[in-house]
Amino acid sequence: MYAIKLELKLNNKQRTKMAQHAGFSRFIYNYGLSLMRQLDHKEFKGSSSKKIDEIQKTFTNFTKKQPEFAWTKKLSSRVYQTGFRSLKDAYSRWHKGYCKAPQFKGKKDRRSFTIVNSSGKVVLDTGKRIKIPTLGTFRITRSLECRYVTQTFTISETAGKWFVSFSVDAEKVPLLIHEVAEPVGVDLGVKCFATLSDGSKYVAPQPYQKAKTKLGKQQWRNRNKVLGNRRLGVKASNNAKKHYARLAKTHAHIANIRQDFLQKTTTEMSRKYAVIHIEDLNTSGMIANHKLASAISDLGFYEFRRQLGYKQKHYGNKVLLVDRWYPSSKTCNNCGNVQPMPLSERTYECGECGHVADRDLNAALNLASVPSGELKPLEP
Ligand SMILES: [Zn+2]
Repeated sequence: MYAIKLELKLNNKQRTKMAQHAGFSRFIYNYGLSLMRQLDHKEFKGSSSKKIDEIQKTFTNFTKKQPEFAWTKKLSSRVYQTGFRSLKDAYSRWHKGYCKAPQFKGKKDRRSFTIVNSSGKVVLDTGKRIKIPTLGTFRITRSLECRYVTQTFTISETAGKWFVSFSVDAEKVPLLIHEVAEPVGVDLGVKCFATLSDGSKYVAPQPYQKAKTKLGKQQWRNRNKVLGNRRLGVKASNNAKKHYARLAKTHAHIANIRQDFLQKTTTEMSRKYAVIHIEDLNTSGMIANHKLASAISDLGFYEFRRQLGYKQKHYGNKVLLVDRWYPSSKTCNNCGNVQPMPLSERTYECGECGHVADRDLNAALNLASVPSGELKPLEP
């Protein structure tokens, strides 16, 4: 674990909000501490943690509801949960002999408060804004370089400036050294999902193909089932409802397999290769061939490209786009001859020099050797 601390760029309204929450947190701490001191500990047995739990219940069920405490309703309830928690920590440190007994917090003490996202960890996106659960989105002075996952946010003030800090898992820090430094070309295809110029291949998983076949059959067998028709006043039959529910499940299953495959593939590539050359996707050209278009959108080429794009920041590699009109499949990687290559042709046989190569590998090699001056960076 290591911590990241960022300066917040706040307007006056947001400053007031932060100060109010810090005040709320201090109020809770002092409220709990004062009740702890008033308790008759001979009569009231148990650990201080249990006692503080009871005090928190009193606050939630009684104190908070009093009209003079109506102001607490406008503030994040997460703050009072963590306020009680920090009082517990103070008592536990004292009992262990690490420090003196807990003291009241004064207005001159450093203003700070903590928010824990109770529904689990949140992903922070890259950029110049940070979203803090229950508080809102705030500008930060320097942008987040990569996406972080965290659950706890501590907001504090130092010398008139407000900061947010959060801890992240050290394991999430990516390796910045890539195994392969020279550019690699990636040819995307229908037969083999990705063919790389170093000869490695990524094939879409078998279960995906199977699930696709199953889906096709399911849809064909039930081709006459109609999920009702409101205009004609036809109600959906139970069997039709069942069928469409099953269909939705199969669709979700397929999407999951695909997403999983794409995530693994793009992570592996981003980690291994320092420079990746891919073809800029040609949307207009794909529409011309309908069958190919559906196969391509299905395989997730756009999603593949999007993931490679944002992972650049994570893994410190570069993804460069080759012009969509560059004839990567039609060019001979040996002599530079350009000849027509219908989609059915799986092997490149050069009419000029006689060079023979796998169609996809030939294309990938061509993509790899495009000079950097002719490439365009892929914006994340
Ligand atoms: Zn040739």
